[in-house]
Amino acid sequence: MSGRQDNAVECPVCQGAMKLGRLYAPEDSAVYWFPDDREIELWFLTGKKVTDQGGVVLGRTYRGLFRSKDRPETWHCPRCRLLITCLEQEETE
Ligand SMILES: [Zn+2]
Repeated sequence: MSGRQDNAVECPVCQGAMKLGRLYAPEDSAVYWFPDDREIELWFLTGKKVTDQGGVVLGRTYRGLFRSKDRPETWHCPRCRLLITCLEQEETE
């Protein structure tokens, strides 16, 4: 994900051009990935609850809240129906 231009990233499956966008959720909620073999407690969800169980919060969140500070950059291949998201470096709380 080195480039910032629309044509800078090729799909790793079909080598077609990927289109740059961002992942959104309703209101200010953050988006997260969570492993199938774990169960998450959804009551007062925080980024720490997600990451402590091996999950990944996409984009940065505010400390102690599950509100998105920014929307994570994501590349989309419409042919393969594949999304590739650039994870932020900053730790979430
Ligand atoms: Zn593709």
